[in-house]
Amino acid sequence: MNDTYDLYAIKYGSVLNRPMSENFIGGDPHDLSKHLDYYIWVATNNERTIVIDTGFNHEVAKLRGRKIDRLPREGLELLGIDSNKVDDVIITHLHYDHAGTFSDFKNARLHLQDSEMEMATGRCMCHAPLRMPYHVEDVCEMVRKVYAEQVSFHDGDEQIAPGISVHLCNGHAAGLQSVRVKTKRGYVMVASDATHFYLNFKDKKPFPILVDMAQMIESWGKLVRLGDSIDHVIPGHDPAVLDYYPAADPKLEGIVCRLDVAPKVSIA
Ligand SMILES: [Zn+2]
Repeated sequence: MNDTYDLYAIKYGSVLNRPMSENFIGGDPHDLSKHLDYYIWVATNNERTIVIDTGFNHEVAKLRGRKIDRLPREGLELLGIDSNKVDDVIITHLHYDHAGTFSDFKNARLHLQDSEMEMATGRCMCHAPLRMPYHVEDVCEMVRKVYAEQVSFHDGDEQIAPGISVHLCNGHAAGLQSVRVKTKRGYVMVASDATHFYLNFKDKKPFPILVDMAQMIESWGKLVRLGDSIDHVIPGHDPAVLDYYPAADPKLEGIVCRLDVAPKVSIA
């Protein structure tokens, strides 16, 4: 049994010149220096491949004014992975930038937290500020996947496969699961949006889109406890990830990096 994985971050899009006030509470709206990247992640070994999140498609990119470089499935193709042959996809939460393109993962079992499905299909969606990060077509597609018996629900922290577990890290969403992956450098926490940037969890500056700030702050502690070190926590949207970690291949510089090896510089 192989419980150790190669782990990659794949960038599929970005938003440029985002005001800092949109990245953390108290940010100066005149400071436009911070970009935001969109990623999916993949853990793979000789026994299984587990994809984390499925990004958005061209239509949603246009709708939201986001830049899309490649579809998530095309990003996986750069590593020789056929999305339709992937068995398991962990959906960290149902926000539009994490839970689109299900149709490119036809045979996958989707892993989702109970509380995230509840939030995305319940009374909270009657309110525009809470509904804003969700795309109704993705949520409907998830309902179809439930009816097709392609969804495994989780309630809190659970093991998905040997060496891979999900951990409830709420605050940004009501059912956000970060993913702990065993790699040759130890346990890496793919935080997803439990921390968008290094700055959010390191400097304790909350991202402004949230349902519960107290939970968000508690979740930062959980990320650090479950990863082997601060250098083992991978934020969900920080462009610095691609600077810190080596490219999977020289041709993939700025697109795909390896998270199963130490960063080129220590973040801590
Ligand atoms: Zn996100």
